[in-house]
Amino acid sequence: MEKVALIGLGNMGAGMAGQLLRAGHPLTLWNRSIDRAKAFEEAGAYVAASPREAAERAEIVISMVADDRASRLVWTGEQGALAGVRHGSVLVESSTLSPGWVKELAIAAGEKGCDLLDAPVTGSKLHANSGELFFLAGGERRAFDRVLPVLKAMGRDAIHLGPSGSGALMKLINNFVCSVQVAGLAEGLALIEKSGLNRDQAAMVLLNGAPASPLVKTLAPRMLSRDYTVNFALELMCKDLSYAMAEGERYSVPLITAPAALKLFDRAVEQGFGQLDFSAVVEPLYAQQ
Ligand code: NAP
Repeated sequence: MEKVALIGLGNMGAGMAGQLLRAGHPLTLWNRSIDRAKAFEEAGAYVAASPREAAERAEIVISMVADDRASRLVWTGEQGALAGVRHGSVLVESSTLSPGWVKELAIAAGEKGCDLLDAPVTGSKLHANSGELFFLAGGERRAFDRVLPVLKAMGRDAIHLGPSGSGALMKLINNFVCSVQVAGLAEGLALIEKSGLNRDQAAMVLLNGAPASPLVKTLAPRMLSRDYTVNFALELMCKDLSYAMAEGERYSVPLITAPAALKLFDRAVEQGFGQLDFSAVVEPLYAQQ
């Protein structure tokens, strides 16, 4: 069993840590808020004092943090993971990040004699808890083959999409498509509420017709019952949309629907819903006069 270090124990990282322990990997954890890591000590994990120490103890180092800024902080600097990595380790960046940053990180990893895979995930908190994530990987094929058993300990499968940055780009496209659907669903439900249509009948129509994607089926009941217990924090969707829009510009495919969706998510953040589930994007629409 390869020795694994996991950095970042938020909604996703905590579930991934549980699966790695269940699979029997010797596991070192680091999280900015140490209490979240301590919770795994009894289950057999070692809690490192820094990302650097976590990397020193492992052959595979995984990061699952919020955004580019957090990723830069945990990998670089004197106490960052890159300062501690062993020659020949494989580094796995599973956070949803910009392709530009993960390519830069891959170069820095190469200078340390390590391969870096960008391997963000589809699936949410519940999939992380039950080991059903799906990994979208970019980087060297040899690195993918080596870490596949570890990815499969945390997920149902993984796909190798191409060179460094391919996984990050695919994840942003995936979340861009999701965000537009969710924004449309929120506006549709607000219109149903305001117009006085029968909401049960309306829900039945939407949830049994063409719009009923897996995402709409999951989020419509939450929006209707106003249950915003967090699986995926709303503010993270703003981050994903802004990274996706930058990629659209880079490839001269401006994502015209993205700014409209982002406007709704930004409005929800401004009104204090940023740390609730992204289904809370509907709240400002329910409230508007
Ligand atoms: P989360 O619950 O908000 O956790 C964020 C993690 O990042 C925490 O461990 C947090 O540490 C850490 N962090 C934030 N800022 C940091 C900083 N400046 N320095 C060091 N650590 C920092 O987020 P999540 O839902 O687990 O998501 C993690 C990543 O997966 C994100 O990139 C997200 O977009 C992506 N993702 C999420 C989902 C989902 O459904 N939740 C699905 C697919 C992909 P603290 O505990 O100290 O705050």
